[in-house]
Amino acid sequence: KSGFISIIGRPNVGKSTFLNRVIGQKIAIMSDKPQTTRNKVQGVLTLDASQMIFIDTPGIHKPKHKLGDFMLKVAKNTLREVDVIMFMVNATEPIGKGDEYIIEMLENNETPVFLVINKIDQVHPDELIKIIESYKDKYNFAEIIPISALQGNNVERLLETVQKYL
Ligand code: GDP
Ligand code: MG
Repeated sequence: KSGFISIIGRPNVGKSTFLNRVIGQKIAIMSDKPQTTRNKVQGVLTLDASQMIFIDTPGIHKPKHKLGDFMLKVAKNTLREVDVIMFMVNATEPIGKGDEYIIEMLENNETPVFLVINKIDQVHPDELIKIIESYKDKYNFAEIIPISALQGNNVERLLETVQKYL
């Protein structure tokens, strides 16, 4: 099995940290300038039973000008073509405007969306439950998986779950 995955989410939620962990190479540059790249392969993860190709999706933010508008269209089309969208959020922060904007953008998209709640090493379990509930109200996520990209908690489970969708 093989498939395409796009990781989206506002800055600093841990997308690059996650990619660096699963790909095992510094392919995803830690602090990349936004809007400088078109869709591109960020890395390929080859497991025994499957291959996951991670695709960068720049342009997911409120467009400020015409080019931004175009980039948003490109991004939306990319998200329709991948097999799984990982929408990564920060467990230590409540839903913000940036998160809500991305959620709105996902409307009318039939690709399964995983809500990946990152940085669980920094929140109390009770707090995590509240965060999960607040996101559940916003979108019909295919899966909701809390992880710590930094420490590795639950990352294996996330990858195993993705394989089911490829
Ligand atoms: P990106 O902008 O979404 O690519 O986010 P980065 O991967 O660059 O991470 C932003 C910051 O969050 C960095 O300082 C990371 O070390 C930190 N970070 C990422 N994942 C975790 C995590 O699971 N736990 C904690 N405590 N920090 C994290
Ligand atoms: Mg990054």
